[in-house]
Amino acid sequence: MIHPDLRINSYGSYLRGRFGCRVSKVNVDGGFTCPNRDGSRGTGGCIYCDNSSFSPRGTQPVIPIEAQMAEGMAYHRKRLGSEKFIVYFQKFTNTYAPAAKLADLYRRALAHPDVLGISVGTRPDALGDDAVALLEELAQKHYVCLELGLQSMDDAILARINRGHSLTEYLDAVERIRGRGIELCTHLIYGFPGETPEGFLKTADLMNRLPVNSLKLHQLHAVAGTRLAELYRRGVFTPLSHAAYIATACDFLERLRPDIAIQRLYGSAPLAIRVAPNWDLKNNQMWYSVVNELKRRGTWQGCRASGECSVAVPD
Ligand code: SF4
Repeated sequence: MIHPDLRINSYGSYLRGRFGCRVSKVNVDGGFTCPNRDGSRGTGGCIYCDNSSFSPRGTQPVIPIEAQMAEGMAYHRKRLGSEKFIVYFQKFTNTYAPAAKLADLYRRALAHPDVLGISVGTRPDALGDDAVALLEELAQKHYVCLELGLQSMDDAILARINRGHSLTEYLDAVERIRGRGIELCTHLIYGFPGETPEGFLKTADLMNRLPVNSLKLHQLHAVAGTRLAELYRRGVFTPLSHAAYIATACDFLERLRPDIAIQRLYGSAPLAIRVAPNWDLKNNQMWYSVVNELKRRGTWQGCRASGECSVAVPD
């Protein structure tokens, strides 16, 4: 459902409509690693990877997930008045472990009476049949969302960023979870070296053809200690301007199916480790940069998905 003020189908509204209350995601660190860092698939990881940049303090594998959940829930209850929660296994690759470990962690998260479900971030090449079967079983009674990183549908870009998997592997993973009651969120990044707006916008057409329930999009940004930061210093990586990102993000949203809920529209890293781009905007300013541009255009998510775009905002 397109929010009349936001002009997009926001994930927050989706959760409120589905569960009838304010729902927040609580990040936990399950103590996983990543096959693109430990050598089984690759070494060094994606060129932008620094997991410390997207994990809040307090989520550390040495802390039991119950304690991590309690801290996160208390924070969201106080700050947002949230009543129910989705536990988000975020850091590294959260299906990359024996099924017994996955079952233990996921079930412990779901055992809390205020937890409605889990979100599990992973890579297309780290989704074993046992993990899919476990998620399918859990999805019979709970909300289960698989957050699958694609980042780019261009295999040449995936190779350049040392992503370690192909578009074909992503498509295969999507087919393996199709029809099993598991929601699919796809992660995308815009602004890779050599990427064009036209090339990126084709990703909306791809998402529209797949059983994607929600989506996360953010600008490519470099944080300290990554190979991308080094490329920036050497002048090889030129970050997008804020205006260029907003324009293409809006073009993308206009082409995207309106039933795909938007979980994220920008990336943010702590100032202390942020290298580039540095747009000096708070999170809500980034969010409203997109919303206000859609308003200025008189458009909304999905208005061009069928090739039409009028100026009336849907109810
Ligand atoms: S898949 Fe994720 S955790 Fe693994 S190297 Fe890439 S960004 Fe890092």
